Amino acid sequence: DPDWCDLRSNLSALHRIPAEQILCGNGSMELIACLTLAFAAEGAGVLAPAHAYPFFKTAARVARARFDTAPETTAGVSVDAMLDALRPDTRLVFIANPGNPTGTRIPRDELLRLRNGLPDHVLLVIDEAYGEFADHLGEQMFDLVGRGDTVILRTFSKAYGLAGLRIGWGRVPSAIGAEIRKVMNPNNISAAAQAAAAAAVCDADYMQETCMMTAQSRDGFITRLRDAGFMVPESFTNFALVRFDSAETAHAVDAWLRSDGVVARPQGGAGLPDCLRITVGTADELDRAAGLMERWAQREVT
Ligand SMILES: *Cc1c(COP(=O)(O)O)cnc(C)c1O
Repeated sequence: DPDWCDLRSNLSALHRIPAEQILCGNGSMELIACLTLAFAAEGAGVLAPAHAYPFFKTAARVARARFDTAPETTAGVSVDAMLDALRPDTRLVFIANPGNPTGTRIPRDELLRLRNGLPDHVLLVIDEAYGEFADHLGEQMFDLVGRGDTVILRTFSKAYGLAGLRIGWGRVPSAIGAEIRKVMNPNNISAAAQAAAAAAVCDADYMQETCMMTAQSRDGFITRLRDAGFMVPESFTNFALVRFDSAETAHAVDAWLRSDGVVARPQGGAGLPDCLRITVGTADELDRAAGLMERWAQREVT
């Protein structure tokens, strides 16, 4: 179904947004790539925070757009720095909220301040790949799409656990959606993936319970790491980002974890070579990872 009718109608009912404004992609990565192709080709500027999701830069390069970044503080994205980094030819601003790999979150009033500080011709894309993990805070942003200059992206890859099926979606102003569809594969999502996603939307309770369990495990894991002396910012996602004193230490800890079968994710690609991202797994897996980290900390002091 090139118009994803069942999936759109279920998403429309769950989120109470008009089905005509929902666009579905082969993963939200396809929507990011098509947005960039449609709106920032031919040397225009694309702006994102310094430690944003690395695919924003890939999409800009593929579209032959210039990619600019704004510095972040230790607390995360700075709206002031984003506004300072705007250039006359900036056409597209990407922000992931909550962030990946930072795990941090920008409150709604700060996002509104960003949108109000951007010129009307600059399209703001708020990538909420981890949005379901923050929905309980009651600061949904979907209404911002009504302005006509803002896009909200979501995905089935994180809270729904369907990354392998490749289904992303977004609430997109109709005029923007029409431009995106000009550069998008008209048969982008397989029938099997559409059916699975449409069914998953109908079990919101299960998804929310999964998010709650994940958040509980994550916070217990983060507390254990902090007690062992590691620097771990608060996370609003399904992972913890651990910051070390140097890239060399991050590399050594990565090797230490791997030697016992625990695979963390180095973050050099996001400009954070001194960090490792550890995804929330089962209780046993997290216990094993935390135990290894504690032994590393012990080894450091002795
Ligand atoms: C995982 C992720 C994506 C990609 O999601 P897909 O729907 O699997 O393509 C996009 N943006 C962010 C911030 C992500 O973390």
